[in-house]
Amino acid sequence: MTLPREMLAANAEWAEETVAHDPHFFQALAQGQSPKVLWIGCSDSRVPAETITLCQPGDLFVHRNIANLFPPGDDNCSSVLEYAVRVLKVGHVIVCGHYGCGGVRAALLPPSPDLPHVNRRIAPLCALADAHRDELGACPSDEARLNRLAELNVLEQVQRLRDTDIVRDSQPAPLVHGWIFSLDDGRIKVVASGYPGGAPSRA
Ligand SMILES: [Zn+2]
Repeated sequence: MTLPREMLAANAEWAEETVAHDPHFFQALAQGQSPKVLWIGCSDSRVPAETITLCQPGDLFVHRNIANLFPPGDDNCSSVLEYAVRVLKVGHVIVCGHYGCGGVRAALLPPSPDLPHVNRRIAPLCALADAHRDELGACPSDEARLNRLAELNVLEQVQRLRDTDIVRDSQPAPLVHGWIFSLDDGRIKVVASGYPGGAPSRA
């Protein structure tokens, strides 16, 4: 019950330290934002975009939801993309999933009667799992199956984003990258490079 109080105290400390380090930091922050990256990640508390990439306030325009999905026709996601690309003119869109994702796991399990919104939300993930039934069935363990579906999900969202009018019609079009974060070692793996000719690699 004390965490919100601790957070407020930590915030005051952070603001003080930040000004001590850079007296003009908040003046610059208040002038406006010009992030170079739109980050689409999972809501999972263990995958905080700024922390795992050492980014600062103003660096990332962020959208997070369960299982880092970009469903077609979703105004919440699409409005974030539209604003990021057409107004902020970000050069990069990063979809960052993670291994051990609860939203992805849910797509491999029977729907929970207590979670109708989640069930509706992850329906496209269930369809994706179905489309890759053979490959996922050949995985040696439940964990391997879950993690492969997490990768396939990132690839699917990357493709959806690249196919949007917002990305395609933009000049120049932002580069769309697909990443996946490992909770085991804190490292990000590139599953779809947004750079021309880029190959998947450890980042
Ligand atoms: Zn997740």
